[in-house]
Amino acid sequence: MAEKKYNPYDNMLSVLKQSAEALGLSYEDYATLCYPERELKVSIPIRMDDGSIKVFEGYRVQHSSARGPCKGGIRYHQNSDMDEVKALAAWMSFKCAVVNIPYGGAKGGIKVDPSKLSRAELIRLTRRYTTRILPIIGPDKDIPAPDVNTNGEVMAWIMDTYSMFTGHTVPGVVTGKPIEIGGSVGRVEATGRGVTIIAYQCMEKNNIDPAHAAIAVQGMGNVGGTAAEIFYNNGQKVVAVSDYTGGLYCEDGLDIPAIRKFISGKNTLDKYEADNVKHISNDELITCKCDVLIPAALENQITEDNAGRIQAKLIIEAANGPTSVEADEILNSRGIIVCPDILSNAGGVVVSYFEWVQNIQNLTWDLEEVNKMLQKIMLTAFNEVYALSQEKNVTLRMAAYMVAIKRITTAGKLRGGPI
Ligand code: GLU
Repeated sequence: MAEKKYNPYDNMLSVLKQSAEALGLSYEDYATLCYPERELKVSIPIRMDDGSIKVFEGYRVQHSSARGPCKGGIRYHQNSDMDEVKALAAWMSFKCAVVNIPYGGAKGGIKVDPSKLSRAELIRLTRRYTTRILPIIGPDKDIPAPDVNTNGEVMAWIMDTYSMFTGHTVPGVVTGKPIEIGGSVGRVEATGRGVTIIAYQCMEKNNIDPAHAAIAVQGMGNVGGTAAEIFYNNGQKVVAVSDYTGGLYCEDGLDIPAIRKFISGKNTLDKYEADNVKHISNDELITCKCDVLIPAALENQITEDNAGRIQAKLIIEAANGPTSVEADEILNSRGIIVCPDILSNAGGVVVSYFEWVQNIQNLTWDLEEVNKMLQKIMLTAFNEVYALSQEKNVTLRMAAYMVAIKRITTAGKLRGGPI
C-alpha cells in the first residue's frame, strides 16, 4: 500500500473546518481563512565557495493581516515547501490571535540543508533571499523572526540587508535579533519558557504533580532545550530527550545542563554517554513511559502509527503542527490531553512583539519586565482557552482555534469585510 503523504496545509485546513463548524462561522468568513492573502515564491541564485552557482527556492507567505502587520519566522530546511510555509503562516495568524497580540500571520522558508553550506554561503543566501522578499516585508507590513535552523545572527543579516536598501537602520523589520542591535532580553528563551508556563497550568488542571511527573522532550533545539532546562532547574524530572540522531532515556532524570553543553558544539546525542542513560530512537521517545510529552521538533511526529502507543497523559505541543489530524482523534478517544501548538508555543512571538514595541519606541525593557508580561499574556490566553473548552465541552485545540478565529473574523468585519 502506498504511504499516505502528509500535507501540513491539509492538516491545517481540516482543523480550521472543524473549528469553523463548532463556531457556526459563515461560509464567507471560513473561506477567507482558507487562503493566504499573499504567496511569494522566489529563486535565490548564489555563488558557492567553489565558484559554481546554485539556485535555491524560497517562500514568504502572508496568511492574514486582518489584526495587524503579518508576523512569523523563516526556516531553512531541506523539506520546506510552499504547502508547509502556507500552513505555518496560517498557524501564525491563529497563534497571534489566541494570545491577542496585534499581528496577523506569515511565514518564510528556504528549501536548503544549512548544515551543508559554509557560513559565507549562508550569508549570501540570506542576503539574496532578503532582497527577493524585500517588497513585502517591513516593520509595518511583515516582520520575520527565527524559526527552524535560523537564529539571531541570520536576523542580523536580514536587518542589515533591508537597512542597506532603505538607507538607514530599521531594527523593527525583524525580531529575534542579537541584543546588541535591538534584540530583546528574554527572546531566545521565550518560546521554551512559554511552553513551561503552559505545561505547569495543564499539569495543575489535570492533577499531575510536577514534583512526581516524568517529562519527555522531543527535540533539543532552542525550544526543546530551553524548556527541558527550565524544568530541570525547577527540580522536575526530564526522563527523555532527543535530536535528529536519536534520543536518551533515564528513568531517574537526565542531566540536562550537561547534555546541552555536550551538544552546544557539533556533537549530537547519539555520541552522548553517561551512567544509567539508555539510547532510544525518536519513536521510542514519543511512546516512552512518561507523564508529559513535549514534541519540540518538526511537524507530523505524532501520527496514527504511534498515537495508540503513547503513554503520556498530557502532550504540550512545542513544535508547530506535530500532531496529525488522525492522531489527534486517537489521542482524544484515549483521554490524552493535548495542549495545541498555537497556544503552547506562542511565547516566542509574544516576546517578538515586545521586541518590536521596544524598537518602535526606542527603549529597552529589563528581563524581569519581559518575563512578567510574558507570564501574564500566556496565563490569560490559557485561561480563556481552558474556560471555553470546559463551557463547550471541546478539546483545547478546538477551543484555541475558536478563540483565534473569532478574533480574526471580528477584526475583518470591523474593517468593513470583503468589498
Ligand atoms: N518562529 C516562531 C514561531 O513559530 C516565532 C515567530 C515570531 O517570533 O515571529 O512561533
